[in-house]
Amino acid sequence: MTELRFGGWRIACDPAATRRAYATMADDKRCDCQTCRNYQSAAAGFPEEVLRFFEQLGVDVRYPTEVWDCGEENFADHLDYGGFYHLAGRNLTPGTVDPGAWVQSQPKRWRLFLRRLWKSAFETALAAAPAHVQLHENFAVAFRNDATMQPCIDLEDLPVLEVDIMFRVPWVLEEPYAGAARKGQPDGSP
Ligand SMILES: [Zn+2]
Repeated sequence: MTELRFGGWRIACDPAATRRAYATMADDKRCDCQTCRNYQSAAAGFPEEVLRFFEQLGVDVRYPTEVWDCGEENFADHLDYGGFYHLAGRNLTPGTVDPGAWVQSQPKRWRLFLRRLWKSAFETALAAAPAHVQLHENFAVAFRNDATMQPCIDLEDLPVLEVDIMFRVPWVLEEPYAGAARKGQPDGSP
């Protein structure tokens, strides 16, 4: 594990293991709704600092486990995205609660249940955590141990670190924006 610091955050990560997991990511984990297609297409053009951040962690910037856009209310030539990525690593930031490490040490079949049980503890951890790190104007990240949902990559038994994002992403698709995709309706249709 490599130790890195970003703003007030201290994390350990295994970029090689994460890179391997992205290289073998299953095709059906790649969402092709409009919101995700725009994100994937825009990702290569993200600011230098943002690309370097993900490269350092071994993460393929095109494939967050989950992103959502914040809707047309503020749509101009960009969309505001929230979401998260996963990688092999741990949050070592002093003062942040770490129920994730304990859950991870339990038998695999119990973990999902235990994660739910610990959900409120995760939220407490987040509340006590350092502020988002501004990688670049309009690109902010924060970390948390363990995953809010099943990661899009298979990290086997490695500990999972989550990167929460708040990004303002340009609209790069030729087609017009069709509106925010809703859960279960990936194309945004009612
Ligand atoms: Zn999608």
